[in-house]
Amino acid sequence: MKGTIFSGMRPTGALHIGHLSVIQNWVSLQDDYNCYFSVVDLHALTSGYEDKLDFPRLRREIALDWLSVGIDPEKSAVFLQSEVKEHAELHLLLSMFTPLSWLERVPTYKDQIQQLSLQGKDLGTYGFLGYPMLMSADILVYKADTVPVGEDQLPHVELCREVARRFNHLYGPVFPEPKALVGKIPLLPGVDGRKMSKSYHNAISLTASPEEIKTRVQQMVTDPARLRKDDPGHPEVCVVDKFHQIYTSEAADLEENCRAGKIGCVACKRLLAENLEKLLSPFRERRAYWEEPGRVDNVLKEGALRAHEAASVTMKEVRSAMGL
Ligand code: SF4
Repeated sequence: MKGTIFSGMRPTGALHIGHLSVIQNWVSLQDDYNCYFSVVDLHALTSGYEDKLDFPRLRREIALDWLSVGIDPEKSAVFLQSEVKEHAELHLLLSMFTPLSWLERVPTYKDQIQQLSLQGKDLGTYGFLGYPMLMSADILVYKADTVPVGEDQLPHVELCREVARRFNHLYGPVFPEPKALVGKIPLLPGVDGRKMSKSYHNAISLTASPEEIKTRVQQMVTDPARLRKDDPGHPEVCVVDKFHQIYTSEAADLEENCRAGKIGCVACKRLLAENLEKLLSPFRERRAYWEEPGRVDNVLKEGALRAHEAASVTMKEVRSAMGL
């Protein structure tokens, strides 16, 4: 019996190369698990209810990004969260017995309220407090037993396990307790050395053209102490090296040559730009296929049907267990 995985991403903007390892991890799990990959548009509203996001465009773009990296809709259900109403229904039912204190102690809750209040956002809302509850519903509605996450999301999976336990205790055994599958997600800096983010304009988009790749790599911050080509370098302070570590097989040799002043930054960057082009060009080709009229819409439609089929079976059990 295959296990079941749920994972999702918010449609808040174009994906960049920093998101790539998460999607590649999903791709590698597709053969071994029944996968549900959702564009979680309801989650985007929990913190962006005032942003008036262009959902039709953003949701389509993120689905195209996933398909271009290799998510296979024959193997995995790819769908919009808001199209599968069972997510919202289970969220409501789980909220009936989940203590407020469980939600208030999720570590990201207070942090994010503080951070986003600096940007003028008021997140003292019922929806924002409940977003980890919505995540639990996303996972449990498919009886997912495995959730691929980064370390920062472990408290969310822990909450989901607690909610599943409490449900099973109160109403009888319906849900498995999902376990986290912590992927190795390398943290790539932006070209300026800060966190890679669309809002800092320092990201390399997954759809970057060969020219954009070259420009972005040229903008990367290198070792400031290196004035001449043969000065000994310090790759540990260089953004280019962080990328070589992930995308260049001979990264160790490059580091050695940098330290010995045997390679210049121009040549080092040229090699990185070539490797990033090799990485991204197959995505561009696949994307062109999926961009043909109707294709991605069909994927989302089919995915929502498959997701609804599984979720409705769970909800039947949930309603019956709760006496509804
Ligand atoms: Fe960075 Fe490469 Fe220049 Fe060394 S040679 S400082 S690793 S760009």
